[in-house]
Amino acid sequence: MRRKMVVGNWKMHGSLVQNESLLSALKSGAAQLSHVDIAVCAPFPYLAQLQQQLSASSVKWGAQDVHQLEKGAFTGEVSAAMLADFGCTYVIVGHSERRSIYGEDSRLVAEKFSAAQQAGLIPILCVGETLQQRESGETEAVVAEQLDAVIALVGVQALRKAVVAYEPVWAIGTGKTASPDQAQSVHAFIRQRVAGHDEQVAQGLVILYGGSVKAANAPELFAKADIDGGLIGGAALVAEEFLGICRAGQ
Ligand code: PEP
Repeated sequence: MRRKMVVGNWKMHGSLVQNESLLSALKSGAAQLSHVDIAVCAPFPYLAQLQQQLSASSVKWGAQDVHQLEKGAFTGEVSAAMLADFGCTYVIVGHSERRSIYGEDSRLVAEKFSAAQQAGLIPILCVGETLQQRESGETEAVVAEQLDAVIALVGVQALRKAVVAYEPVWAIGTGKTASPDQAQSVHAFIRQRVAGHDEQVAQGLVILYGGSVKAANAPELFAKADIDGGLIGGAALVAEEFLGICRAGQ
């Protein structure tokens, strides 16, 4: 039986003061929710704050990106070992904003996935199609290519210690949510594709949905057989909204 999971992706938002009140609300709200795994992925400078404020809480934390190499002359970059030093459990790799704005391709994302696991972190691998790709019937091909690149580099067994997030690009930050049936169909496709390599890994794999999830639409999405929770952007910045989503996973 897979546990539901809800992960907040703060993107480039927050301040010490804002985070302080958001985190204390999450901490007390999460204490009432023992059947859902909750995490927040914050900008790098706030990892120390997460470590301080969440260490005695069930809420885990992580980062939103990582460099693919262990160390070196890469000004401005952050390694997986550094994230592990700050107590991160998770790191998002391949978010569509990184793929589209920073030109990250599936091979690079797979390398980041591998680096994260080597440092003991759990990668949250984002996959998803653009509106144009959906409209031209390429959704499954796009998602398959993004997933296969990781399986080819690290092997399917690596998915035992990973999370996949299906995030249709057209639904991220747009207020347009994929319908529960649209999302379920891609989630089932991802699980089947993994099952083609190893059925047991596929059944254990947590697949989150991301794209304009709110407390109001989470219950219907999370009720679908292959939707194991959500990766939450905008709504993760509002404690009551985020906790409402977490309650839908409880
Ligand atoms: C995201 O950035 O991962 C995301 C799902 O954003 P939003 O919830 O705002 O659509």
